[in-house]
Amino acid sequence: MSELKELQARVVEFRERRDWAQFHHPKELASALSIEVAEIMELFRFKTAEEVQRLIQEPSLKNELGAELADTLFLLLLLAFESEIDLRSAFDKKLLLLEERYPVEKVRGRSDKWTEYSS
Ligand SMILES: [Mg+2]
Repeated sequence: MSELKELQARVVEFRERRDWAQFHHPKELASALSIEVAEIMELFRFKTAEEVQRLIQEPSLKNELGAELADTLFLLLLLAFESEIDLRSAFDKKLLLLEERYPVEKVRGRSDKWTEYSS
């Protein structure tokens, strides 16, 4: 079993043992995922990029950020499970698409959207 599948099996088991599947409609999971991402943003709110760079070196913030990233992973795994999406396969497909959209020789060191290069 891949590490991703193993993590997914663990969150599904965690959820099943608590009878929470009834609350995990994909719509609710998508909302919860968005909320968790907002919690990551909250950690950096009103800070400059330099302050954030310094803060993420501090153990207390690193702990909080790690917990929020874990929350997002938890929900992402459940949303993929409920939607019957193979995350590994979806990720591989997306990375391939990004490789096509953002060829290194054209985009290295640039941040424009892919549509700026594609004409
Ligand atoms: Mg959270």
